[in-house]
Amino acid sequence: MSQACFECGVPADYDHHVIPKSQGGRKTVSLCRDCQLAALIVVPVMPADISVRTRPAKSAGEWSTKLTAAQVLEIRTKYAQGASQIALSKMYEVSKVAVHRIVHRQTWQQLPEIP
Ligand SMILES: [Zn+2]
Repeated sequence: MSQACFECGVPADYDHHVIPKSQGGRKTVSLCRDCQLAALIVVPVMPADISVRTRPAKSAGEWSTKLTAAQVLEIRTKYAQGASQIALSKMYEVSKVAVHRIVHRQTWQQLPEIP
């Protein structure tokens, strides 16, 4: 390998494929080991608008994770006994959506049915 490194001029060690051979690239440039390593490290370019697409965080009350299994069973029992979802959401300080999901078994599906 008698070529000088394309980047820095020291005796080159590699024929670096600008386009990988696997993708049909045929042209090579002579690079030393250091410059070849630098060429292989691809810095990902972030889309400029990535922060705009970040979805807003879900409101804390939406999920029922702060409830215990026992409370979830109580909610289902009280709902079955006629308590409204709004009353239950106030009683357990969770959102109406969380209560809705609990009583319709969209969350806490692992709990047994109320007898
Ligand atoms: Zn070099």
